Amino acid sequence: MKKVLAFDVDQTLNIAKTPIPPEIAELLTKCLDHFEICPISGQKFDQFLIQIVDEMKDATPEQLTHLHLFVAQGTQYYRYDASKKDWEQVYNYPLTDEQVAKITEAIETAAKELGYWEEDKLAEGDEIIENRLSQVTFSALGQKAGTEAKYAWDPDCKKREAIVKRCKELAPEFDYEIGGTTSINAITPGMNKVFGMTHLMEELNVKKEDILYFGDMTQPGGNDYPVVQMGVETITVRSHEDTAYALRGILGLLDK
Ligand SMILES: [Mg+2]
Repeated sequence: MKKVLAFDVDQTLNIAKTPIPPEIAELLTKCLDHFEICPISGQKFDQFLIQIVDEMKDATPEQLTHLHLFVAQGTQYYRYDASKKDWEQVYNYPLTDEQVAKITEAIETAAKELGYWEEDKLAEGDEIIENRLSQVTFSALGQKAGTEAKYAWDPDCKKREAIVKRCKELAPEFDYEIGGTTSINAITPGMNKVFGMTHLMEELNVKKEDILYFGDMTQPGGNDYPVVQMGVETITVRSHEDTAYALRGILGLLDK
């Protein structure tokens, strides 16, 4: 039997950038009794709390010790300390200021050249490029844009593929991954989900075969693809509804 259920977040556990729905919260909480549960996503730690942990209101401190947060594609890892009733950072591998500056310039230049720099559409105080410490993230319409606008912006990934192509010319020493609905994550090579999953195996003392991974971007170029490539068993979902369906099946078998 698998020991670990690992999950991409955006479009796998939720509608991108929104809290997980009650059904997913309930299913994940139940899974904590049987598995180590590991969300892994490009988001920052505070977004993991807002989108996942805060919604799992019924989880006990003991259950939460089986929830492992692999933040910024697993370049940061947080686990729950039941005695302190708080999260503790286990490790962090940040980018240097110089790397952040170089990536920021490349993405901004590429998006502007291609006419995809939509500064006029941003909500007040919002930003297109965000430094997430272990990665730099481009969100075409910012963090606060509505879901509908985000879905409509680049449904076939063509705009982001064009930006990525140009970025690879401008700053080839970095890797660029398409994720979510409007996002590109820039990282140093190797600091993708393989890095996160490798550290996950080390920290949780499990093997590849012990893990089942859920993701929506498992196609080549997608930010879940590195996990497929490393040979972890993967379930491709179209949305959190597919994930809920699969989790109900897994829990149903355990109850027998
Ligand atoms: Mg996703």
